[in-house]
This record gives sequence, structure tokens and C-alpha cells, in this order.
Amino acid sequence: MKTIDIVVPCFNESSCIALLYSEIEKNLIHLDKKEYSWCVIYVDDGSKDDTLYNIKKLVREKGHDTVKYISFSRNFGKEAAIYAGLSYAKADYVVLMDADLQHPPALLPQMLSKIEEGYDCCGARRVSREGEPKVRSLFSRFWYKAMKLLTGLEMTQGGSDYRVMTRQVVSTIVSMKEKERFTKGLFSWVGFSTCWIEYKNVERAAGRTKWSFWGLCRYAVSGFIAFATTPLRAAVWLGFTIDIITFIYAIHFLITNIRSTGPRTGYATIVILLMFFGGTIILLLGIIGEYLARIYIESKDRPIFILKESNISKDDSDKKNN
Ligand code: UDP
Ligand code: MG
Repeated sequence: MKTIDIVVPCFNESSCIALLYSEIEKNLIHLDKKEYSWCVIYVDDGSKDDTLYNIKKLVREKGHDTVKYISFSRNFGKEAAIYAGLSYAKADYVVLMDADLQHPPALLPQMLSKIEEGYDCCGARRVSREGEPKVRSLFSRFWYKAMKLLTGLEMTQGGSDYRVMTRQVVSTIVSMKEKERFTKGLFSWVGFSTCWIEYKNVERAAGRTKWSFWGLCRYAVSGFIAFATTPLRAAVWLGFTIDIITFIYAIHFLITNIRSTGPRTGYATIVILLMFFGGTIILLLGIIGEYLARIYIESKDRPIFILKESNISKDDSDKKNN
């Protein structure tokens, strides 16, 4: 018997709680009861409305085995809610989905079958962005490109947080203890074989989006900084380029001045000295940035490698090391 935990982060989603459960139930009812058992884990991210009340009501109706919840003392943000949900989920397969039905539960059977086929992870990818402001789509497209260019992290365009994962993937994600989390990036960073299922954008079932344009901008920057050390390292190249330009300018100045007999103003010397010191200071900042980048990476304490499988048991390798 395989167990499935469906993790749902909720922030002010009172009208979606029961709706989502009945949609999930409708789509999972055909699963063989001898083969699968499932449960929804709601993560109440410090909601101010009746979300928690409605979750508790659902627990009373459906029972503790099919509806579980954790509730935060205040709003900690979706990333924290995802982390908490994934660390409480102990099932063989774990699903991550939004509460507002924008992640269609109808895809669940197909996604589960992909995992059964042997994929470690199956995600849902939005192929249309209808109903979304044009600026937001443009911004998002640019951000994915910049992310790939500057961090080497390849994230699927339109890839959502809606995923079904094996226990191994979930445990790996939870084992990454960094505090400034960007789960979308982490999913891509840990690797594992991932299959994408496409779906059309769906409007929210009820309530309002929690993301303002500036909120999204902050999220994009935080995601970028969580993976990129390029800004810290860029100073080295800037300083170096300024110093090279200064050097070429100084040589040019020397050659033209040896030949000329006109009066000396000292102007070029000042410019050369200013540029030289400016460039050198930026270069030194870049070197400090390089060390800082390393400290930053080390402080995240990410694993050096992630093992998927091996025929060497842990005991064998321990014996060899001793
Ligand atoms: N969410 C959360 N904490 C927050 C903001 C959002 O748990 O601080 C949840 C929210 O309840 C929903 C999911 O994250 O289940 C996605 O949020 P939303 O639908 O507002 O985002 P959008 O779909 O507009 O990107
Ligand atoms: Mg939504």
C-alpha cells in the first residue's frame, strides 16, 4: 500500500478549504483503495479569516486520517508553509498544490501514473498565461532567462509549484536547511528525473491573489540572490576593466606628451590617478566579494552531491573509511 500526502499552503483561503478537498476526493476516488491511501495536509500560514476554523470543521467531518493540519503563529510566507508541510509529510508520495484550485486536482491521477512509471517528480507546467497582466508575463519570461544566464540554474518556463514527488525527493528538499528558501530553484537544483504535464491557466476559485506586483519583484530578487553570487563577483571584472582602460589611457597620454611641446596642465595625470585608484578599490571590493560569496555558499550548507542510488550499502562505505 502506497501513501500519498497532499500538502496545501493556505493564507486567507477560507472559501477554498472544503472546495479543494471535494475536488481532490472527486479525482482520487477511482484510485484502488488497496493500493493507495491519501491524506490532505493543510498548512495555515497565519490566516486572518476563517481558514483554520474551516480546516478544523473538515477534520471533524472527514476524520483525522484524511485531513491533517498545521497552523502558524503568524504569516511566515508561502516558502515557510511549503517547508513546514513537506517536513510534516511522511508519505511515500507527496503532492504540493495551491489551495485556490489554480493547480487542477484533475491532473493528479495522470501525475501519479508518471511517478509509477519511474519518474522521481512530476510537475505541472502552465502553457497559457491568459488572465494574467502582460507586464507580469514579460517580467517572468525575462527573469527565467536572467536566472539561467547568471546562475546556470535551468528552470522550466511556466513550471509551477504543483508537483508530485517521491519520498527521496521530499527528504532531500527538507534536508536543505537554508532559511531564505526559494523552493522552485531548490527543486531544479536537486535534480532527479522530472516529467512535466502541461495545463491551461485557471482563474482562482475564490478569494484574491496574495501577490502584489512589488511582492513578486521582491520574490524574484530573493530567488535570484538565493542562487546567484554574480553581483558579489561582478566587482572584480568592473575594477579590472577600469584599471585596463586607465593603463591604455596612460600609455596614450605618455606617447602624445613626449611628442608635444605645449604647456602641461596636470589634468590628465589627475584623471589617470583618480581612475587608477577608483578601479583598484572596486577590484579589491570584488576580491572581498569573492570571499563573501564563498562564505555565503558555505553557510547554506548544501550537500556536495545528492545520491540517487548505489549498490554500496552505507555500512560498507563506513567500514572502508575506518
Ligand atoms: N500562500 C501562503 N502564504 C502566503 C501567500 C500565499 O501560504 O503568504 C498560499 C496561498 O494560500 C495559495 C498559494 O500560496 O494556496 C498561492 O498563492 P496565490 O494564489 O495568492 O498566488 P498566485 O496563484 O497568484 O501566484
Ligand atoms: Mg493562486
